[in-house]
Amino acid sequence: MKNIVVLGSTGSIGTSSLEVISKLGKGYKVLGLSTYGKEALILQQLKKFKPKYVSVLPKATHDKIKNKIPAGTKLLSPTLKGLNFLSSLKPADLIINGLVGSVGFEPLISSIKAGKTIALANKEPIVMAGELIMKLAKKYNAKILPVDSEPSAVFQCLDGICPSTYHNTSKLVEKFFLTASGGPFFNYKGNLSKVSPAQALKHPRWKMGPKITIDSSTLMNKGFELIELMHLFSIPMDKIQIVIHPQSVVHGAVEYKDGSILAKMSLPDMKLPIQYAITYPEKCKSPVKKLDLFELGKLEFYRPNLNKFPCLNLALQCAKKGGSYPVVLNASNEVAVQKFLAGEIKFTDISKLIEKVLNKNPYKSARNLNLKKVQEIHNWATKHSREKI
Ligand code: MG
Repeated sequence: MKNIVVLGSTGSIGTSSLEVISKLGKGYKVLGLSTYGKEALILQQLKKFKPKYVSVLPKATHDKIKNKIPAGTKLLSPTLKGLNFLSSLKPADLIINGLVGSVGFEPLISSIKAGKTIALANKEPIVMAGELIMKLAKKYNAKILPVDSEPSAVFQCLDGICPSTYHNTSKLVEKFFLTASGGPFFNYKGNLSKVSPAQALKHPRWKMGPKITIDSSTLMNKGFELIELMHLFSIPMDKIQIVIHPQSVVHGAVEYKDGSILAKMSLPDMKLPIQYAITYPEKCKSPVKKLDLFELGKLEFYRPNLNKFPCLNLALQCAKKGGSYPVVLNASNEVAVQKFLAGEIKFTDISKLIEKVLNKNPYKSARNLNLKKVQEIHNWATKHSREKI
């Protein structure tokens, strides 16, 4: 029996994870769930999956539903402490981390320090502190299995060797291909400064939560994934080629020393990489629609346009500089996306805001960051970004 905790169970990754667990049936048990503010949905999930623990944030939602929690489920304190407890539960065999943004940083560290196997969808902590996280994962013997579809694809092309214990990719592999759909504005000919949040939220291929959908429309998400790949598989940046692939069928590929390229192909559905992380190292039957090569007909690949998508350019620069830069990048992007979604800034202001904050970075020479330093830099960049524009 695999006991599973789903962090962020009412979000896009969380609901898909529960669907996968339901379909897998016997052998998989939900041990804990967590939500941020989705009152009705979490109550439904508690009724269906009967977990032992639940974390409900913020406090207002926690207080509202505390008398409606079914018997047999313990409601944890409405604090980060409660979430950290859930992330490191002793009987948990797998922690699915579907939290959004930097909020997942501490829970991820808690899971790692408890030596857990983590199915990680929450890429921002890796962007913020990838080096430190991988070092801690090694120290505490925690396993990180990627859920993000592109790292999962690369992982599968590397034959599913656990990324947090695998150190020889550079010896075997010549190049890693990181594919991107291009987002809603790949072919857009209009003025990007005029596009609305609703337009940016219309992703052509993937159904995801709002934060990552905006990150996909600016291509910041691809920059984050490049940083994610560098850390998860110990790859130098110059071995990763970002490829725009509008069909979103090739999710990642690996070119070996001999020139052979292995690619992972399927229709774009997050339930596949989620299921692989849950059943790893087994591959099980899945209800996801199969790819029909004849229906697909053709595959296209293009170079990314860094002038049209300056967020990707900024991410590449930060990946190269390392140290505090990815921390500042992530925090200012988080604030910029919130501001864009709230209608406070234009689409094209997202990269401008981030660039301004990066230029003011007072931690330029900081290296080998510890947890406290990462948090300090993150807090500085968040505060500074909120004050800009
Ligand atoms: Mg992805």
